[in-house]
Amino acid sequence: EDIDLIEVIDMVINKVKIKANQKGIDVVFNSPSHGALINADGQRMEQIFTNLLENATRYTEQGTIQVTIINELQGIKISIVDTGIGIAEEDLPYLFDRFYRVDKSRSRSNGGTGLGLSIVKKLVEIHDGTIEVQSTLGKGTTFILYFPIDLNE
Ligand code: ATP
Ligand code: MG
Repeated sequence: EDIDLIEVIDMVINKVKIKANQKGIDVVFNSPSHGALINADGQRMEQIFTNLLENATRYTEQGTIQVTIINELQGIKISIVDTGIGIAEEDLPYLFDRFYRVDKSRSRSNGGTGLGLSIVKKLVEIHDGTIEVQSTLGKGTTFILYFPIDLNE
């Protein structure tokens, strides 16, 4: 079933915005004006972006979270850029592993179980998508997702 990713992400942003704004973080949404249609499970898409945006809010102390959707020729690209605490290079290879948390003591005070990103990755793969992460410690983190569009539908 075709869903509009803009609607899904807009809804998720409205959910996390309250907490983000309380922390003084701005959430910016850049989306195409003609919709971003994809054949996908709306609830699973919501779960993916809820996880990523809750992480961005939890692991950012100040600045902005910027979400951008770009319609490409054969798919949809979504980036989530935060100005948070960042992730050390040595931790990046394990980030999508179950129960992996970068700083156990810090993370404990921040809540969470360490399951979020492993579930996100599974849900992305169910939709034949990809997810990549780039990060600089102390500067921020970027997640880039790509979902191919089935042109034969
Ligand atoms: P859960 O999502 O299960 O509540 P969690 O947020 O700790 O718990 P994941 O979402 O899997 O678990 O993330 C794993 C770890 O990756 C986190 O504990 C955190 O250390 C790090 N991390 C995830 N997203 C970010 C981010 N945007 N900025 C900095 N660190 C992050
Ligand atoms: Mg999480």
